[in-house]
Formats: sequence, structure tokens, C-alpha cells
Amino acid sequence: MIFDYGPMRKDGQFENHPTEVKEVYVAPLRDSYIHIKCGGQTIMYGMDGVIRTYATNPGFYGGTFCAVCHGYFPLVIEGAPQFRWSADDTPVGEIHGEPGKDLRGVGR
Ligand SMILES: [Zn+2]
Repeated sequence: MIFDYGPMRKDGQFENHPTEVKEVYVAPLRDSYIHIKCGGQTIMYGMDGVIRTYATNPGFYGGTFCAVCHGYFPLVIEGAPQFRWSADDTPVGEIHGEPGKDLRGVGR
């Protein structure tokens, strides 16, 4: 099945994003991250499914959006993490921190 990302907004972000929330938390809930290359922060407003997917199924996404660069980028390039969570400075897509802990809003 092909996921329908919907239309692209003016800021370069698609309207829809796939989610795959698992039952068991393996990481905290975190809602904002820094794109290391530009230093800009992206906040996932109203994206509860994506936030919970990262907390239960961190390997699901291969890339993410940067609100400053207005584009999507891989989470890892040649072994180097490209994004870090604002809450605890750990790489997006890896498993770190207390599972299920609510860190939304922390670090921003
Ligand atoms: Zn960026």
C-alpha cells in the first residue's frame, strides 16, 4: 500500500504523515528536535501519532522534516545522526531515555 502524504503546504511539509504506534513504549514522548546542519528547531504540533510512533517504534521513520530548511532529510547520513531531540539531546530515531516518560515541551 502506498501512503498518501496529501498536498504539500507552503512551508514544504506534507499534510499527512504515516504512523505506526506499537503497544510498548521504548523511548520517551518527545515533540521537538534540532536539525544539526542548520541548528533549527522543529516542533511537532498536533502530531500525536508521529510522536507516539517515535516513542514506541523509533526505527519506523527514515527521515524527517526541518521547519527551518523547509524540507525532508534522512535521520542518518553516512552513519552520522542529522537530528537530535530538544528534550535530551539524543539522536532522533535511536532508542534512549526512559520509555513512556513525557518530555513534550522540554528543552524548548
Ligand atoms: Zn534544517
